Amino acid sequence: MMEVYLATGNAHKVSEIQKLSAWHQLQWQVWGADRAGGMPEVDENADSFAGNALLKAQALRERVPAGAWVLADDSGLAVDALDGAPGVYSARYAGAGATDADNLQLVLRNMAAKKDLQERRAHFVCVLALIGPDGREWSFEGRCSGHLLDAPCGSHGFGYDPIFQPDGHSGSFAELGPEVKDRLSHRAKAFQALAETLGRVW
Ligand code: IMP
Repeated sequence: MMEVYLATGNAHKVSEIQKLSAWHQLQWQVWGADRAGGMPEVDENADSFAGNALLKAQALRERVPAGAWVLADDSGLAVDALDGAPGVYSARYAGAGATDADNLQLVLRNMAAKKDLQERRAHFVCVLALIGPDGREWSFEGRCSGHLLDAPCGSHGFGYDPIFQPDGHSGSFAELGPEVKDRLSHRAKAFQALAETLGRVW
């Protein structure tokens, strides 16, 4: 069976990709970077999600066995009224070492003057970078659009989930829970594009 190594030390992302692989019936064994000796330190200094995802994938590729695939994910929240911020800085918007709660509160503070729903438009973005055993590179982008709530609601998920309401639903991602989020999230959409491409390549 083919193998894919995920360029992350985050067990949550590994299990999410395992779940998505099973849904799409991808015949590959999914491993975390731990299996390849750990995720190397990467300076995520690109100015795009695609750039950072590729940096992570290329760094791990040095460590995986011949014949294996490498997959990296980079994601974040882009708020229209903040010119796309926090964007690639989503994980450290309130500074190095900031918690999810710090980052989310800073977004709410910066958006305090924007009362109108239309002014509170935001998108989650995920880019998956894939490198094949022969060195061929692909990237797949998924987006999920919605708006920001005034205050955090709900307890599922992570990051900005408590303040993001996806279009077509009432309630934040953190209230809607994994059944809803796993179907329409930015990561699910990026993965769908990946699965379609692999369906043609394999
Ligand atoms: P990454 O691990 O470098 O891709 O950073 C992603 C950051 O974006 C996380 O720390 C979260 O703050 C945010 N983020 C990405 N995806 C999600 C999501 O599905 N829900 C909430 N926050 C997210």
